[in-house]
Amino acid sequence: MLTGWPGGNVGVAVGDDGIVLVDDQDAALAGEIQSALRIISEKPVRFVINTHHHSDHTGGNAVFRDHALIIAQTSVRKRLASGGICGNGTSTEAVWPPANIKALPDCTFDHAITLHLNGEDIRVLHFANMHTDGDAVVFFSKSKVVHMGDVFVTGINGCHGFPFVDIEGGGSVRGMIAGIEQLLPQIPNDAIIIPGHGQISTVQDVKNYLRMLKKTFATVEKAKTNGTTLKQLQQEKILDPWREWNGYYDADKYLETIYNDLNSAKPKDFIRLE
Ligand SMILES: [Zn+2]
Repeated sequence: MLTGWPGGNVGVAVGDDGIVLVDDQDAALAGEIQSALRIISEKPVRFVINTHHHSDHTGGNAVFRDHALIIAQTSVRKRLASGGICGNGTSTEAVWPPANIKALPDCTFDHAITLHLNGEDIRVLHFANMHTDGDAVVFFSKSKVVHMGDVFVTGINGCHGFPFVDIEGGGSVRGMIAGIEQLLPQIPNDAIIIPGHGQISTVQDVKNYLRMLKKTFATVEKAKTNGTTLKQLQQEKILDPWREWNGYYDADKYLETIYNDLNSAKPKDFIRLE
């Protein structure tokens, strides 16, 4: 795993057949990623998998595409091509213009795709409406490593962190809960988890995170009766018991996200994958 500010964690799989990258950070860091890779291996980067469309995970696409195939879920290419905003339905985090055609994924999939190289089956699975509507979770089945993109983050400074869910980009807290519930049984207990941001984690960390998501969501759902405003819920500090999860997103903004999620249409049905 390569880390660096300001982008997301880059998963690097190396072997005789070449390098596979999971995410390629911010555009400005592409040169540094290439230098770091040269220390690890002389082999070329053959594939880049984008876990979702945000620029801190896809920014290097235009550089790596000269030699590698860029793979992403269908929605990632659409959102990069159209440009748009990302935010939780109230607070806007970023606005981006339509991407240069060189930065678009060459190869897209709807539900799943598997790469076979370096003696490994690399399973790339899409779960609908989690952090965005184009999330892919990448399973390195032999190495027992899973890159979860921003479906699972551990915060910037500590081991905790409320998630940022991009409701403008098709994300959903309900979808994230359902998706993680589906994918957890598919991950061996001793697997190494690479979060979208933050430090290497364990399956137990993901379980704790899921428990927090479920409990906070249920708490807001119960408290939000007809006519309850967001401000009331924030003043009542109903998420105070989980304040240790304050990170990039604090309890007020995360509460805002759940509130908006409850007001939006239910996410699509989830696709079960074997
Ligand atoms: Zn993201």
